[in-house]
Amino acid sequence: MFDALSRWRQRKVLERAAIPDPLWNEAVTRLPFLAIYTNGEMVRLREKVVLFLDAKGVVGARGHDVTPLQRVIIAIQACVLVLELDMAYYDGFENVIVYPGEFVPGWEWEDEAGVVHRNDDPLAGEAMPRGPVVLSWPDVEASADWESAGMNLVIHEFAHKIDMKSGDANGCPPLPAAMSVPAWEQALSAAYNDFCARVDDGEDTEIDPYAAESPAEFFAVLSEVFFADPLLLRHEYPDVYAQLAAFYRQDPADRADPSAATR
Ligand SMILES: [Zn+2]
Repeated sequence: MFDALSRWRQRKVLERAAIPDPLWNEAVTRLPFLAIYTNGEMVRLREKVVLFLDAKGVVGARGHDVTPLQRVIIAIQACVLVLELDMAYYDGFENVIVYPGEFVPGWEWEDEAGVVHRNDDPLAGEAMPRGPVVLSWPDVEASADWESAGMNLVIHEFAHKIDMKSGDANGCPPLPAAMSVPAWEQALSAAYNDFCARVDDGEDTEIDPYAAESPAEFFAVLSEVFFADPLLLRHEYPDVYAQLAAFYRQDPADRADPSAATR
């Protein structure tokens, strides 16, 4: 009953809030990493984007006006992560806030000695626990093309959001029952330790060295690589690739692998 009702509601939303073809096509051309997706996947992605934009506000702040194209560009990248997952991973927050540039978060925290600290480093993006995702538009735009940027801000912040679904971001999102938490932790921590050692040795890693910051950042950065440069991740950390493929229920390296094209 509930399923039939929710499917009916979804169909209504898909009709009412459909994205016009020119707008959709323009957004897709700004995101070259989508080129490996099949037609069927692109159709499903478009539906997820419509549902996402119906459920969430993408709102400008500090003088930034969000255009329809910007909304769709942001929503596509957010929905790539949940293409094969339940949208419930994004329950618990209502808005994506878009600033005209980098921003100082302004949050403060108190250490064990009772001293209040404040972080004044400007950020390009932030995912707040139980709160909005905040993005700097110029940084979204600059990281839309993986080939030139080597990073993807939107995927990064939404990976944090998925991670936070089970509490603080710690690099382990809530896994489905069919997946093993110890196997996840073993694969991720072995790769994390290896990556930190490589960064400490001064190696010029292809994966953004920011991943060495913490297990939570490692998960977010490797999720970017998983979607936007999957062959790189499968080559460097196959065990992590396998865990992410099981979790996201996608095999983007298989799509991107030229040797698999003739199959
Ligand atoms: Zn991060």
